[in-house]
Amino acid sequence: MLHRLLLTVLTGLFFLPILSLAATVHEYLPVDHPYKQIIPTPESSLGFEIGERHPRHDQLLNYINVLANSSDRIKLTTIGQTQELRQQVLLTISSKSNLNNLDSILAKRKTNNKLEDSAQPLVIWLGYSVHGDEISGANAAMVVAYHLAASESAEVQQMLENTIIVIEPSINPDGMDKFVQWVNTHRGSTINADPNHIEHHQGWLTGRTNHFGFDLNRDWLLLSQKESQHRLAYYHQYQPHVLGDFHEMGANGSYFFQPGIPTRTHPLTSRKNTELTQLLATYHAKALDNDNRLYYSQENFDDFYYGKGSTYPDINGGVGILFEQASSRGLQQESDNGLLTFEFGIQNHVLTSLSTIEGAWKNKNTLIKYQQNFYKESEKLADKEEFSGYLLHEKHDKYRLNALLDKLKQHQIQVFPLEEDFRLDGVVYAKSDSFYIPLDQRQYRVIKALFSQQTKFQDNTFYDVSGWTMPLAMDIDFFEVGRTWGLKLAKTPWQVATKIASNIQSEEQAYAYAFEWHHFLSPKLLNKLLNSGIKAKVATKPFSARLATDKGTETKQFSRGSVIIPAGIQTVKNWRNILLKNSEDIDIPLNLLNTGLTIKGIDIGSGSFRLLKPVKVLLVGGKGVSQYESAEVLFYLDDTLSIPVTVVEQQRLANIDISTYSHIVMVDGKYSSLGKNAAQKVDAWLKGGGVIFGQKRGAKWLSKFEMLAMNFVSKGELEQLFDTDNLQYQDKEKLAGRKRIAGAIFESQLDISHPLAYGYTDNKLPLFRNSTLIMQHTSKPFLSLANYSAEPLLSGYADQNMVNRIAHTSAIVAHNRGRGRVIASSDNLTFRGYWLGSAKLLANSLFFSKAFSTPVTD
Ligand SMILES: [Zn+2]
Repeated sequence: MLHRLLLTVLTGLFFLPILSLAATVHEYLPVDHPYKQIIPTPESSLGFEIGERHPRHDQLLNYINVLANSSDRIKLTTIGQTQELRQQVLLTISSKSNLNNLDSILAKRKTNNKLEDSAQPLVIWLGYSVHGDEISGANAAMVVAYHLAASESAEVQQMLENTIIVIEPSINPDGMDKFVQWVNTHRGSTINADPNHIEHHQGWLTGRTNHFGFDLNRDWLLLSQKESQHRLAYYHQYQPHVLGDFHEMGANGSYFFQPGIPTRTHPLTSRKNTELTQLLATYHAKALDNDNRLYYSQENFDDFYYGKGSTYPDINGGVGILFEQASSRGLQQESDNGLLTFEFGIQNHVLTSLSTIEGAWKNKNTLIKYQQNFYKESEKLADKEEFSGYLLHEKHDKYRLNALLDKLKQHQIQVFPLEEDFRLDGVVYAKSDSFYIPLDQRQYRVIKALFSQQTKFQDNTFYDVSGWTMPLAMDIDFFEVGRTWGLKLAKTPWQVATKIASNIQSEEQAYAYAFEWHHFLSPKLLNKLLNSGIKAKVATKPFSARLATDKGTETKQFSRGSVIIPAGIQTVKNWRNILLKNSEDIDIPLNLLNTGLTIKGIDIGSGSFRLLKPVKVLLVGGKGVSQYESAEVLFYLDDTLSIPVTVVEQQRLANIDISTYSHIVMVDGKYSSLGKNAAQKVDAWLKGGGVIFGQKRGAKWLSKFEMLAMNFVSKGELEQLFDTDNLQYQDKEKLAGRKRIAGAIFESQLDISHPLAYGYTDNKLPLFRNSTLIMQHTSKPFLSLANYSAEPLLSGYADQNMVNRIAHTSAIVAHNRGRGRVIASSDNLTFRGYWLGSAKLLANSLFFSKAFSTPVTD
């Protein structure tokens, strides 16, 4: 079938002066297809044709609303709101009678997956533009929605009788508008297809990510962002058989659809899944062949990491398919394949959206049977395992534990509280701190995907991370349980936890209050108190004290890092009310001390309690600096801990007064704008008492300008780790894969007596590593607070030579520089917002940086 649009493009290119290549909605759709006149077209609502301009999210939303109001085949659902208050919507498209009974249809599927094939509707989910600057998808979504709402063909009507199509037209509304604002701002009155034009090159923060700078197409499994959380509830309600995920890639590409690279599919994804993906691929190929459009599959992209839209369905009974369109980015761009227009990309995504629907519809029974068998097969796989389930245990920090339980619940995994304490391998796990996850449940594969610690792989090249073991990232102990003898579980699974009620009344006149540092949000409380002018001190040595409680008195041990608020030194009016209110809001229990004399260890007036100071943090940002790592630091400090952070682009750093800041944070990035002069300025500030935290190439910059007393392993030395004799040219890509660490988990030994490690109770701390930056081993005492273990690889792929080279080296170091402090990490401590285990080291670097002193002399 030849599309009218192609003709328009060709004639436009060669024979006519180009005014606009935009097209009415019908030009994107099959020729001579009957449409209901009454259904409004996108152009009638937008005021311009699809492909003529980049529509804003509100314009898209407006059309979707108009369309839904005019059609009884569409149910519009608002599933949530983004950080910038944009609506996240889903369109459910089906026959009128199906929509009238939608709730019961979905409920029936959920409770009875053994329904006869013919009684089951097919569910197809199409998600567009999760990367907001890959916007051809969101435009294709409007065309596809119009087609399904307006088509009068008998075939479409028959299909809708038995199919539920879910369209998420713009998965990332905040990112979409960030991008559209850029393109529309820089677009000229005349079309400019020059790839060098600013229209095609966004600034430091691109529309790819959401408001917080997170890649939502890595977040399906991690759920650190609200967009993903909102969507997942609906995803599991609909249980789609097929999910299409529509993206863009570089301008010189053509068009990609899955299957991806066969050797790089995760082993938990069944062979049948790949076969079905291949089957659907024949429909995409046919649609694109008809217009002589270039495409490819089984290259570049893989199906390994389950945090993406195209992979998450693969462990949830569906078939996920990635589509990648070469990006015109702006309106048009010259490319290797000729002039690439915005419309051309939109057209491709429309074609493959329709081929996905057609292919799935024609193979309806196969897909429904596949999903049913998928869950039966999961049961069998669980039976074959050598253990029955996982025991989770965390005694000190309920926040991290609950955060993990909450994520598991969102993935529909059942986790059970214990009725009695449980003994495993000679250790007794208290029922109050322990939970059990049986493998024998519907979501067996998701459990395995979250808990797996695979380190050996068929193919050693990865498109994304190779290790993401969630309890390691969140630093929650977990154990495989073989025999469940003696394990008594609660009847109902874990539900969202309620707050711990504070038992302290405001009128009580305590001598001092104390709270422990184990809780993940204790830095949030401390920051709030310090900013309110309340004076607090940190215990650098342990103590035991008698506490006043509503039941009388009890003795409690406080470890290093506990924070005390002595009444005798407060100057702020109402300080007790501020303290009590904030501890209750943040849900951190306060302990009440009626005397300065402790039972054991330091007394409250001791000099071993160090006065803490409010912090003022500057994050060096700007072009060149990793937008992901700076976003992750901001998300943790600003959003999670409510600590404001001033972001200054590296280009501006030399021009501002930095003397008022207590801390500077530098994440990974190229700091080419920070030369010798900037370094001297930072160093003078540092020697005068400032504290700098450098991560990855941020740390390397500090080393280069001799503020950090550590050297990094040279690239030359790393090269020599790999034997390249006898390699052929065809091995080039493989060698590059071996030399990289795409994302794996390593074990470090943490010195928990070091002030920067306050709050940690376990000296083994997993760290996330996605670079080959390695600090040399140091023999200077007290400098290194975390060293890699002797056999450090815990999860994911890293070449054994690389692993051996990393073993025993320093992961995190800290030392004095004049009156200031330098803290450096070779790893990303706040990766993707779910690395709650190592994140606290960053907060400790803010509050406890003057609680240690490690002078270094050369
Ligand atoms: Zn993308």
